[in-house]
Parts: sequence; structure tokens; C-alpha cells
Amino acid sequence: MELDTAHPPRPLPGAAAAAWDACANGVLLVGAGEAAFPILAVNPAFCRLQRRTDAELIGTSALALGDALGDAPGDARPDNPLAAALHAVAGAGASHTLLLRASASAPWCRWTISVAPAAGAAVAPQLLCIVEDVTELQEQQALLAHLSSHDALTGLANRALFNERLQAAMTQAHGRAGGVAVLCLALDGFNLVNESLGYVAGDQLLISVAMRVQGCMRAQDTLSRHGGNEFVLVLADVTDSAQVHAVCEHIVRVIGAPFPVIGQSLHAGCSIGIARYPQDADDGVTLLRYADMALSHARGLGGNQLQFFAPEMNQRTTERAQMEAALRVALTDGQLQLQYQPMADLQRGAICALEALVRWQHPVMGLIPAGRFIPLAEATGLTVALGYWSLRRAVEDMVAWRAAGLPPVRVAINISPKQFRDAALPQAVADALAQSGLPPLQISLEITEAALMQDQQASDATLAQLKALGVGLTLDDFGTGYSSLNHLKRFPLDLVKIDCGLTGNIVTGADDAALVKTIISMAHHLGIEVAAEGVETEAQCDFLRRNMCDQIQGYFFGKPCDRDQVASLLAVGHAVPPHLLRIQKLPRTLLLVDDEQNIVSALKRLLRRDGYQILSANSGQEGLDVLAANAVDVIVSDQRMPGMIGADFLRAAKNLYPDTIRIMLSGYTELQSVTDAVNEGAIFKFLTKPWDDEQLRTHIAEAFRLKEIADDNDRLNLELRTANHELAAANRRMEDVLRQKQQQITRDEISLNVARELLQFVPLAVIGLDDEGMVAFVNTAAERVFRQNGAILGNEAQIVLPELFPDGLAPSGSHQVHIDGRCFQVVAHPMGANSQSRGSLITISACEETV
Ligand code: C2E
Ligand code: MG
Ligand code: MG
Repeated sequence: MELDTAHPPRPLPGAAAAAWDACANGVLLVGAGEAAFPILAVNPAFCRLQRRTDAELIGTSALALGDALGDAPGDARPDNPLAAALHAVAGAGASHTLLLRASASAPWCRWTISVAPAAGAAVAPQLLCIVEDVTELQEQQALLAHLSSHDALTGLANRALFNERLQAAMTQAHGRAGGVAVLCLALDGFNLVNESLGYVAGDQLLISVAMRVQGCMRAQDTLSRHGGNEFVLVLADVTDSAQVHAVCEHIVRVIGAPFPVIGQSLHAGCSIGIARYPQDADDGVTLLRYADMALSHARGLGGNQLQFFAPEMNQRTTERAQMEAALRVALTDGQLQLQYQPMADLQRGAICALEALVRWQHPVMGLIPAGRFIPLAEATGLTVALGYWSLRRAVEDMVAWRAAGLPPVRVAINISPKQFRDAALPQAVADALAQSGLPPLQISLEITEAALMQDQQASDATLAQLKALGVGLTLDDFGTGYSSLNHLKRFPLDLVKIDCGLTGNIVTGADDAALVKTIISMAHHLGIEVAAEGVETEAQCDFLRRNMCDQIQGYFFGKPCDRDQVASLLAVGHAVPPHLLRIQKLPRTLLLVDDEQNIVSALKRLLRRDGYQILSANSGQEGLDVLAANAVDVIVSDQRMPGMIGADFLRAAKNLYPDTIRIMLSGYTELQSVTDAVNEGAIFKFLTKPWDDEQLRTHIAEAFRLKEIADDNDRLNLELRTANHELAAANRRMEDVLRQKQQQITRDEISLNVARELLQFVPLAVIGLDDEGMVAFVNTAAERVFRQNGAILGNEAQIVLPELFPDGLAPSGSHQVHIDGRCFQVVAHPMGANSQSRGSLITISACEETV
């Protein structure tokens, strides 16, 4: 569209005319003397707003313009508000501003029109209308208003709007004697999503959660987000707790369904804390605080829980604050102690390490175990100071044991996640080693997966620094949290500790048993040793030894004890009993079961000479008791016995101790029961009474031979697996050493390059000769001095630099030479004093010639 701004003439002369043209707002001059309010002049900006030329506009009625304009919503004005304004201004002479929709076809556009009498109008009264397009401004204002009350990520109400809504809900409830509930909701393990899948995934999850929770709420309720994964809900018009409970259960259910996030299916649980008005508190701030307390409580119960606020929680929070203050005092007042729990090596049986466990000797509460105050210390950051205290104390105790002549033992020190992230940790460990003179392998550091997960790159760097010091690295509490094979592979670990929670179920729970076996073989495959924590019974220890676990720790082998008790354990050589070692050779044991004592005695007399350890029982039940208490290889049982017949006893023995070889020796041949037992494999041989001594001895010897072959197979299998595992461990150590060497080489190369560069540019002329007299280095200053000598580098020095060889001898000490008529001082510096280099560096500096 061509706009003819030259015609008709502008209503104003000179500079005012230029302003008229340049004005960003639309301006029109309207004749007020006529009822139609004709447009007398328009500026270019108004033409642009109208998308019409001034020729098209001038002479038309301004009222027509007003007809096309609508009211902005919310304003109660006449049909043609512009006409009303023009009349009002023309009549009363006062200016008037109104906000209007631009047109019916663009209802989202907004204009303000200010109408004022045109001052100095020459002939007839005229009105000046200034039109401003405020669409964008209004949109920005609306956006700002929205942002100040809503969360940018989810679009939910923010804390400010939540407060307003809560206040309104409470006021309304007060009037109707009703109730309000405040719910604090947090996703369980949300940090893990952020850390493992990234913030984009975390944000997607939060948006989906917001949408699902919103779907569980009524119009009068408010869902707000207060940052992170913290959602707070206001349920208005609440009549009873059951109603709140039902909403919470609905929320837990919808959040329990998998979330599709960045192409993966994520499972998220949530915990909810609830406080009610007016039962729990009658002001918003306290309600929110109580709901938050209830949420902490719900999370403390392991997550995925609902928890209504109870007054005891408030008390518990106070107690926590008191405990924190007391713990600060304990750290400086010597109330902390270190105990040590022995760990046994299942190959040799002896103590292979001690885990240092902190205790708090509280003046009133007595001795408090770490499990009761470490979580609090970690939450408040006190574990960092506490961890360094443990390290110092453990090293002092180790030095004392060494001074007392006790055998050296490794001590494992727990490093909390916060201490692990403390930049001073590697230096503190290095200092402890240097000051004590202890070999680095005598210290190992126990770190949990949670600590490694927080920032995997930083973890890599810290672990590499610790590894370079030579201390052992253990992954603690494996099998409870993430239990990632990837972590075992990625981090330079020596030992992984299976958590107490898993060990406790290995004998009774098939799932945990299978998991423990998998962890052991997975770790062994990667060359990492395995320890099981919380071993409380012989049966657990036996399971672990059979499944190649390397070390055990727990009340079965030894409880945590003080430094003097450790000294006695080390002095007496406390060890696991031989029958629980991984590889063992036990005496050959025979069990005789017969209700007739004289037969048992006769058999004992006959078989004793064969060197067996012989046990006996007079009934099937007694036989089972003996089996429960002893490792038996071969069983010889009578068939006819009161209580339990031999076939049933041998069947039970087969089920409970399938490795035993079972023989029946009987005078009675009740075919059916015996045949069944033979067919089921419960009986290896059936021999009849009376027996032939030599035949019986031969049969029993054969049974032992078979058992030994089976045992040998098992043992060989174990030995093979042990050897394989040791090989994998050696490989892993070798990889570590190679990695460290490679890092050292890279560092050396860098420093060499820096040194070369320095030498290259020093003003002093420098030449490097290798141990065979070849020129290995020439700096820029030296090249200048010897520019006449041609190519120097890589040649034999005596030939290309004869000046350096007075009387044909290799340079040593210092001498003067003349080059190009100038005198130079040549000094030879043999290398190798502070490095592994050989050869010499020769410096050549200009000198005053002495005559
Ligand atoms: P942890 O490193 O897993 O230590 C093993 C915990 O299991 C210890 O609890 C120990 O007393 C307990 N325990 C040992 N044998 C058995 C058993 O047979 N059955 C059962 N049920 N439990 C057994 P404690 O001493 O209360 O320590 C708890 C946690 O506190 C430790 O777990 C460790 O993470 C932390 N901790 C202990 N001392 C320190 C320390 O000096 N610094 C840091 N940062 N953390 C420490
Ligand atoms: Mg530990
Ligand atoms: Mg542990």
C-alpha cells in the first residue's frame, strides 16, 4: 500500500510538522463543529495502524472509525465509545482517554485513544485524537502478572499464589465451620532421575506429575509447586480425614503408573505429608511447616507413604535440633570413640581387616551406635569433621598396635558422601599416611554408591587421587540402593561389601540368595573381592563360603570392640573355624544308625581300623540330629527301627544333605518301601544282615571313594574359580598400574614440553648433548651463535661444534672459546643429578675477553 503523506498539507508548520510525521502514535485531527466529526488530517503512523492512505481517511467521519472499534472486555460503555468521547470532549472541553479493541476482526489488539481539544485551532473547534497500540504492552503486563504468581516450568501456582489460596480457603472454612488440608508431596528418588538421566528428563517428569496430580483435584483445590520436586496442595472444603486419605490414595495411584520420559518408562513413587486446619494449626505458615514435617517423617519411613501430622513430630524435630547441638559439643569434647569390627578372610580364616565404627559416649544416653547419629550428622554436614576425626584416631590406634608388636592389619574407614565431596580428602589421607609411616594398603576407604552417584565425573577424579595414594577402595552397602554393575565396572574398587539387609535373608529367601550369588560372580568377574556384612549365623557363613564370598563381617565372627580388645583378638589369632573355610579337607566321617546298640558297637569295632571318624545314632530322628551338627560323608542305616523306618530316614537325609552317600543295612526286606527309596535315589546300596565283614568294608570304602571324587570335583571347581578370580583381580590391578603409569607419562611429557619451551626462548645459548655426544637440543640463542656451523641438531657434536671441544676433548667444567671473533664462556653441566637423564647441557654466554 502506497501512503501519500505529502497530500493534503500537514496541519502544522516547520518542526511541529516533522514531529507530526515522525510520531510513533497515530494522530488525527477531527473537526468538532460538525455532527459527523470529519477527519481533517492524519499522520503516517495512523495510516499504518488503519492500513489505509490519508486520502482514504481524510473527510470521512471519525464516528465511522468508532463504529469499527469495540469495547475492551470488562468496560461498560456505549456502542460507539469513540463517539461518546468526542461528544464529551467537544462539549466539556476536558480531555478523555479510553481503551478499545482495535477492531471486530482483530479482537486481541488493544488501543488507547486520548481525545483532547486541539489548542490554537484557527477556524472552527477541532479535536486531537492520539491512538496508541498497547497490545504488546498489555500482553507483557499479563505475562508478568502470571509469572509472579505461577511456576514457570509446570504452570502451577507458586508459593505466593498458594499462600493467597490457602488464606482464602481458611477464611471460607472458618465461616462455614469446615476444614482445609495442606499436603506436601515429594517424589521419591527424584534426584536420581536428574543425576542419571539429566535435567531435561527431570523436568519432563515434573510436568507429567503436575498434570496427573492436577487430574486428581477439584476446582476449588489448588496445586502449587515450591521448587525442586516439592508440590504443595490445598484441599478446600474438607469434611474429614477419610476424604483427604482418598485424595492421597488417588494421587499415589496415578503417580505409581509408569511415566514415559525421554523414550524410557520411569517408575516414580511419592511421599505425602498432611496437616489440617483447624485441628493442627490455625495459620498458614504453621500448617505448611507441619505438613513438611509430616512429609519428612513419611520419607524417613522409606518413601511411598502418607503421613498425617502428629504433635510428636514437632517434638521430634526439637529433639533433633537438640541432638545436633549436642553432637557439635561431642566432637570437640572427646565424647566420640572408635570401635573396630573384625572381618575374616574365608580362604585362610584369619582377621583380614577391621572396620572402624564411630560411637558417641553421651553423658546421659550412654553409648550411641553410629547408625543412630550418622544420618543426622550427614544432614547437617558434621560428618566431614567427624570423618577426619575417625581417620586420625584410626591411624593413631594402628600405630599403637604396630608399636605393641601385633601383626599388621588393614583398617577400613567409612567416608560419608559429604566427606567424599570434600576437596581436602585426598590430601588428608596422604598426610595421615606420611605422618604415621603406615603402608597405604593398610588403609581402605569405604564409600557408598550414593556418594559416587552424586557427581560421577568428580567421583572419578577423587577416586583416581585416592587410588594413586595406594589406599584400598571399598564400595559399601552394595545391594540396597542403585546396585549398579556399571559402578562396579567404572570405578577403581578393590572390594564390594554386600549390605546387611541382603545377607540377613540369604538362608531363608531364595531371591536374596540368588542376588548375593550374582553379585559375587559379577564382582569376581571384574576382579573385585566381595565381603558380606551382617553375617550373624553359621548357616549364613556356610552359604557364603560355598558361594565363593571372600570375606565376612558380622556378629558371628565378632562384634565391634575397642582398641584393647582388638589387640587381644590379633594376639590370639582369632579365626573362622576350619569347617567354614572356602577350601577344606575334613576327616572322613561315617554315621551308623541302628536301634540295636550291639549292632552299632560291632560295626564300630569292624570299621574303626579303616580310619573313619564314626558317629552313631539309635533312631532316624537321632540320626537327623547328628547330621545337623556334623559334616557326614557316608551313612549306614538299619531299615526297621521304631519311630522312623530306615527308608524314610535316608529319604530325609537325601533331601537335607544330598551330598552324603547313603547305604541301607537290613535283615528285613520289605520290598516296597525299600524299592521306592532306591528308585528315588535315597539309597546308594542295599546290604543285608548278617553281613560279611570284608564285603561290608569294601562297600563302605567304595562309598567313601565316590564321596571323595565328588568332593574333589567341588574342590577343584572352587580352586579353579578362586584362581580365575585371582587372575581377574591381578588383571584389574595391572590395569590400574598401567593407567597410573600412562597418566604419569602424560604429565612428564607435559612438563618436558614446558621445560623445552622455556629453554628454547631463554636469552642464554643452550645446547643439549646426549650420552653418546649427539646434539639433542639447540635453543634459539645457540642457533644464533653457531649460525655459521650449518645443521647442528642430530649430528655428532665433536664434528659440528668443534668449538666446544678444546683440545679435542669432551667439554667439562668451563672454558672460553672464540666464535666469529667474539669471546664466549662455555660451561658444561652433566645431567642426572635430579632426573634420569644422561648426557650434558652446555651453556654459552658472551664474556669480556681477557688479554
Ligand atoms: P556400615 O559401614 O555399613 O557399618 C556396618 C554397620 O553394621 C555397623 O553399624 C555395625 O555395627 C553393624 N553390624 C555389624 N555386624 C552386624 C551384624 O551382624 N548384624 C547387624 N544387624 N548389624 C551389624 P553402626 O556402627 O551403627 O554404623 C552404621 C553406619 O554408620 C555404618 O554402616 C557407616 O555407614 C556409618 N559409620 C560408622 N562409623 C562411621 C564413621 O566413622 N564415619 C562415617 N562417615 N560413617 C560411619
Ligand atoms: Mg562401612
Ligand atoms: Mg555397610
